[in-house]
Amino acid sequence: MKTSQILIPTQKEAPNDAQIASHQLMIRAGLISKLASGLYSYLPIGLNVLQKVENIIREEMNQSGAQEVLMPVVQPAELWQESGRWDAYGAELLRFNDRHNRKFCLSPTHEEVITDLASQYLNSYKQLPMNFYQIQTKFRDEIRPRFGVMRSREFIMKDAYSFHLDAASMKLEFEKMHATYCRIFERLGLNYRAVLADSGNIGGDNSVEFHVLAESGEDAICFSDTSNYAANIEKVAFSQQEKINTPSAIEAQVLTKKITSIKDVAQFLNVEASQCVKTIIIKVVDGYKALALRGDHELNEAKVQNLLGDFKFASDAEIKTLGLKKGFIGVKDLNIELIVDYAAEVMVDFVCGANEWDYHLTGANWGNVLLQTADLRNAVAGDPSPDGKGKLVIKRGIEVGHIFQLGNKYSKAMNANVIGESGKSLTMMMGCYGIGITRVVAAAIEQNYDNRGIIFPSSIAPFALVIVPINYSKSIRVKNSADMLYQQCLDAGIEVLLDDRKERAGIMFANSELLGIPHRIVLSDMHVDNDNVEYKARNSPEKITLKFNHALSFVQNKINT
Ligand code: ATP
Ligand code: MG
Repeated sequence: MKTSQILIPTQKEAPNDAQIASHQLMIRAGLISKLASGLYSYLPIGLNVLQKVENIIREEMNQSGAQEVLMPVVQPAELWQESGRWDAYGAELLRFNDRHNRKFCLSPTHEEVITDLASQYLNSYKQLPMNFYQIQTKFRDEIRPRFGVMRSREFIMKDAYSFHLDAASMKLEFEKMHATYCRIFERLGLNYRAVLADSGNIGGDNSVEFHVLAESGEDAICFSDTSNYAANIEKVAFSQQEKINTPSAIEAQVLTKKITSIKDVAQFLNVEASQCVKTIIIKVVDGYKALALRGDHELNEAKVQNLLGDFKFASDAEIKTLGLKKGFIGVKDLNIELIVDYAAEVMVDFVCGANEWDYHLTGANWGNVLLQTADLRNAVAGDPSPDGKGKLVIKRGIEVGHIFQLGNKYSKAMNANVIGESGKSLTMMMGCYGIGITRVVAAAIEQNYDNRGIIFPSSIAPFALVIVPINYSKSIRVKNSADMLYQQCLDAGIEVLLDDRKERAGIMFANSELLGIPHRIVLSDMHVDNDNVEYKARNSPEKITLKFNHALSFVQNKINT
């Protein structure tokens, strides 16, 4: 390809809404263009990268024995009503009516359609197991689309769904997909980790997420410093602790005036936040509940959801109607059910609200109250690893893939049965396996860039090599040499970009670096005089002078290593 023939609208400045490096660089390098919030077009270079990611995924999925299909994005409400998700899925599911006033949605995921297909076409145990995948657009009306294609509303996912006679077969396929995903992320050149995960609204019990490690990641992932335990912070489960300390203080009510936050109260009373108990009021389907946590701990919303179902934080007005005083809510006489986190349960002589305006209690204890307790909090660095080995370290990650053992959640609701060996009808077991393809592109950049631009892993770079001829439009000798090398590269099957523009050398260098092309060759009159070229790799500052005749084999070697 010649630069003059492709649209690569590079920009010096990133737009104001681009907060993270990958978003800024994808816009600045001309990979994507914003249409509206969470909606992006892929321009030629961006699409090239996206297709490279798709191809690696497609090759590995085919290799694993999965079969490619393609299902519609627009789906009838009836299927979603059958699975129960028409009501259960929140506002992320975009619903609309067609001209006949029939209800439809834009699919955020495809369990319903594939299960419907399976119930039609899989009838006998002899056909199982089978795994189907597609590479298809998804739509999720995200509450806060952000970070460019990292969290967009329309995005491309590879989603796969497997069908089995029994749980053992489902587990085998889960392991196979686990290994397939590892191969995919290795080939993509990403530094990733597989971690235990919460299953969210997709369902099932066992799930593993794949995270690309990056500071800007939205997820916190926890690792043991001594074992191979790794889990999303949402999933790190704590058990009830043994009470070691015994109460010794006398409870007192102290004036704290307008001081309400844990941090300020702790500072005012000269105690650690970990000696305070905070009370959070939530609204569940059948009323309100109070949740008590250690002051320095954060509520884990996934755990609350799993324990109590859908919930919302109570508003100031609701707290008031309960007769409670926001900022001073305590743990006793609340008139609503209190659930105490395991870590708060073992506290003694703590600080908490006094249920009176402007007052807190010091030296408070649970006393003889019969406590309802649960695991409600997020892990913090230094917590003991749940496998009993070592302590937890926390890192940031970008979730690029998620694999689930669904069990019979969808097959049972949608009657996806087969005739078993004994002639009996059996509900199939299912697995499902997703990779966010558009997010992978952003995550790869998030992990590979410097202050000049993107540094693409070679497997997904839009071009392997860029030839930058200086004075191409004026010097016939430079033009001839550059054209000759370009043709040699094309003949050798190298994906090469020739920068044939009438631009200053500085601009061409800056563009090639912004685009992250792994290998670069510069050619000027001086080089032609000496029958050589200059080679530089994007990820190294070193410039190497090569004989013109050796340039092709040198680059070929570099590309293949
Ligand atoms: P998240 O927690 O980030 O919202 P999710 O748990 O909703 O992700 P899944 O339902 O497991 O995601 O979807 C499979 C994959 O699709 C994710 O691992 C992620 O890579 C990708 N994905 C999900 N939502 C988005 C989005 N809004 N934009 C881009 N990719 C997404
Ligand atoms: Mg989501």
